[in-house]
Amino acid sequence: MKFNTVIIGGGLAGLVAGISLQKAGRSTAIISTGQNALHFFSGTFESMEEAPQRVTDLFAEAGIALHYTPGVRLMPMGTFKKAALSLEDISLFPEPAIGHKALIVSLTGYHDFFCDFLAEGLEKQGMQCRIKLLNLPELEQIEKSPSEMRSVQIARTMDRNWENVVREIRILLRDEDTVILPQVFGLKDASVLSKIRQGIPAQVIFTGTLPPSVPGVRTQMLLKRRYELLGGTYLMGDEATGAHVYDGIVHSVVTHNLGNHFLEADNFILSTGAFFSKGLRANPFEISEPVFGLDVEQAPDRSDWYNPEFMREQPYMKYGVATDSSLHPLSGGEPIKNLYAIGSILGETRPELGTGGGLAIRSALAAADEILKPTAE
Ligand SMILES: Cc1cc2nc3c(=O)[nH]c(=O)nc-3n(C[C@H](O)[C@H](O)[C@H](O)COP(=O)(O)OP(=O)(O)OC[C@H]3O[C@@H](n4cnc5c(N)ncnc54)[C@H](O)[C@@H]3O)c2cc1C
Repeated sequence: MKFNTVIIGGGLAGLVAGISLQKAGRSTAIISTGQNALHFFSGTFESMEEAPQRVTDLFAEAGIALHYTPGVRLMPMGTFKKAALSLEDISLFPEPAIGHKALIVSLTGYHDFFCDFLAEGLEKQGMQCRIKLLNLPELEQIEKSPSEMRSVQIARTMDRNWENVVREIRILLRDEDTVILPQVFGLKDASVLSKIRQGIPAQVIFTGTLPPSVPGVRTQMLLKRRYELLGGTYLMGDEATGAHVYDGIVHSVVTHNLGNHFLEADNFILSTGAFFSKGLRANPFEISEPVFGLDVEQAPDRSDWYNPEFMREQPYMKYGVATDSSLHPLSGGEPIKNLYAIGSILGETRPELGTGGGLAIRSALAAADEILKPTAE
């Protein structure tokens, strides 16, 4: 099987790169073992201090509306955090004074949303809060099993029954100017969020829950669908286990499911994430990259990898594969010329590209641009 580009890892970075290349007419395949950091996504892209049209267009074409209003957002524990480029789910405010009275609404039997912490945090900002639980007959079936009462399962039901939620909240609402709800709406159809906002005569803020993140799962589904609609091949549940590299060039990648049918391409992109997604691995002696055995920037002495004060910045979080200026990763100090490393596998080795979602998007676009550069004959 031969492609123009094979992408290893189908999280935010891999999908943004894949969509950009497919749009430019290149044939690509994404190999992805499964869950990625988007399933834990807060809805705000870190280190996106600007909102390039190219980025908002790429997401809009996938059916994902972003908004850019630098300010603060309400966090699940009732604190406020700086935020800018975000999904439409997220309400952004110039400052933490977001209203006078809040009605915080959760669902009976749902334990992944922290009403008391939210109330405590908002009361510190001078807001009066009232907490109410909705007892919805539509949730009775999943309520019977506490393990089923999770954000994504609830959202599946809520997307069909959001009108009942609006009706119940309108009955509960007294003189509150703000209604705070858990992010359990709009799994498949983000327009449910604006319909709820329109139906309630107060400002409505959707706030984070324990994972999985409903807006994150929706973002992943929509980016993947866009990639496939553009003709990309998404090899879900497969894992790259090794590669054939000689003379500084990758010739093919070996995967668990395809066995002896190697994936050949002109270019390869490595977007396997950091420790969380097993793009980087650690043993007591070294931190390594498992597919290509690339050079990883790390302190030689293990005692320097971490700060014993748990809450402090941890040095290992900055480690990542070493790359040249064109994002070609190094192996034995030499760049692999048709391989690009993007996203969180870079750690903080390329601070100019930012961190988190900003790093994933910027590095993915940079690698796609490199691949699309006309080659001098
Ligand atoms: C828990 C958590 C929450 C976060 N929340 C935010 C947030 O709210 N906002 C923000 O801006 N940033 C957040 N981040 C930072 C996040 O890392 C980036 O935003 C971004 O989503 C990373 O994307 P990625 O594609 O580089 O890696 P990942 O999302 O980690 O994706 C890597 C993918 O590669 C796959 N993979 C790994 N090895 C192989 C292999 N050998 N073969 C095939 N597939 C493989 C993995 O299964 C995974 O699907 C969060 C990170 C974590 C860990």
